[in-house]
Amino acid sequence: MNTHPAIVVYGSINIDMIVEAAHLPRPGETVLGNDFRMSCGGKGANQAVAAAKAGADVAFIGRIGQDGFGGRALESLSKVGIDTSRIGIDPTSHTGVALISVAPSGENQITVSSGANAFLSKTDIRRSAPALAQARIALAQLEIPLSAVCEAAMLAAENGIPFILNPAPAFALPRDLLELTSFITPNESECEILTGIRPDSKSALGKAAEQLMAQGVKGVLITLGKRGTYFATAERHLLIEAFPVQARDTTGAGDTFNGAFAVALADGLAPEEAIRFANAAAALSVTRTGTHDAAPLRSEIQSHLA
Ligand code: ADP
Repeated sequence: MNTHPAIVVYGSINIDMIVEAAHLPRPGETVLGNDFRMSCGGKGANQAVAAAKAGADVAFIGRIGQDGFGGRALESLSKVGIDTSRIGIDPTSHTGVALISVAPSGENQITVSSGANAFLSKTDIRRSAPALAQARIALAQLEIPLSAVCEAAMLAAENGIPFILNPAPAFALPRDLLELTSFITPNESECEILTGIRPDSKSALGKAAEQLMAQGVKGVLITLGKRGTYFATAERHLLIEAFPVQARDTTGAGDTFNGAFAVALADGLAPEEAIRFANAAAALSVTRTGTHDAAPLRSEIQSHLA
């Protein structure tokens, strides 16, 4: 167990139940699918695993139910060395589940029941304070209650460490939270939801980033899929290009990006270099299928960067 994690991830854990089918069901329709698989998911868990595989000591703060799915989720996280000792077990709710149907085109349909994730409380976050005391980076997404995310941001500020917010799924965020955010990492659609600006040109990207910074965020990273990452601070705006690869499955690219970005910052790299590291990690991940399995190891990222 890591008593001094470099990165603390606050987030969701789900069990993904995935069925492949010839087509997605219409309302009221039953479709007989083909293959079935179950894996650990949730943006929090995915990003924590990406960070651990990229070489960091990671502690995870979240909530599961007192059920078999919870045990399975813990196993997936511990397998890559994540400290799971501060994951709460909810006596009254189930572990989060995502029911996913996938068509041959890759198009999918997802229904999530958040279960215990929805009950992660401010008290749970405060109780985790010792994990953050020696950490270098805190990372959160929005699949847990907003009150818990705000508390995590406050705790990071009290400890004087950067707070990375991956605003997924996106919705309007309170200024208090944005003011405590060191780096916000929306993808294109999340950027549009947060700012009302579709980031489809250089000037639109600039305007969207300026708007987020005007609300208190210090650094903005808008991820642009195969085009790379737009990075803005008060001093400069620049596009950091993606690594060209043959993409097979882009699901979870953002999760790998966030986990790897947190690792590189924790290692002391400047944000631009940390983004290059994260672009390389995410590029490798889209060449593979799955989520946790697709996240690359540190050695693989380093050879891709060389
Ligand atoms: P999300 O998965 O959240 O929608 P993006 O699609 O913006 O996020 O991807 C996140 C990051 O993953 C990008 O900034 C880029 O570095 C990398 N990436 C995504 N798709 C590709 C691709 N086809 N080729 C290379 N890198 C990619």
